[in-house]
Amino acid sequence: MADLARIVETTVGGAVLSAGALAYAVRVPSCSWLAPSICRGTNTRPAIALTFDDGPSESTAELLEILALYRASATFFQCGGNVRRLPGVAREVAAAGHEIGNHTDTHPLLALQSPGFIHRELTAAQETIEHATGLRPRYFRAPYGARWFGLGSAQQRLGLSGVMWSTLALDWKQPAPAVVSRLLHGATRGAILCLHDGRVLEHRPDIGVTLQAVRELLPKLMEQGFHFEKVTDILASGIET
Ligand SMILES: [Zn+2]
Repeated sequence: MADLARIVETTVGGAVLSAGALAYAVRVPSCSWLAPSICRGTNTRPAIALTFDDGPSESTAELLEILALYRASATFFQCGGNVRRLPGVAREVAAAGHEIGNHTDTHPLLALQSPGFIHRELTAAQETIEHATGLRPRYFRAPYGARWFGLGSAQQRLGLSGVMWSTLALDWKQPAPAVVSRLLHGATRGAILCLHDGRVLEHRPDIGVTLQAVRELLPKLMEQGFHFEKVTDILASGIET
């Protein structure tokens, strides 16, 4: 993303932004200048949202087994390309009661892309997911967490709300103990934790670290009194538990 910092000036809502401010708007989870995004849920109860990006993959079924063992609900931000490759796995995710969100069709970096391109990516994923699972996503997560001009209006046209995260697991590059420690540190009421059950559009990705981390993390969080909610639920403050 350093290349973005070299963009000299641009505008958001008529305001001139410096390169630093633009980089902030593109990448900082809590910033909603380029597209409205949520990065945490309610703090009214000890709930955590587990979210998994880049699936479905050949290893998603193993993750579903671990989640079922702890009766944990989660949200899967899936790519249209992976859903077309593994529609049966996408259906298993839906059948297990988890929520499915939109993570674009081909997982491109949206920064520097045209509004038309961005709208087509979101639309293709939306249609593919609905066709395969019968569920129409309500939430969108930008690949690499990078938002861009035109994303806000694409989200609005498709009825999608942007969701980022409060803690990123870094499960694609750190060993499981480090991932568990990061996530335990980020475990607060309303936290939205971001992990991965795929690797972009890779076939048979190795998600062993994610599986090991989830196996260790879930019982530890439950011991601390947390339970797990889908994104839709964790954003609703009125639910009593
Ligand atoms: Zn992703």
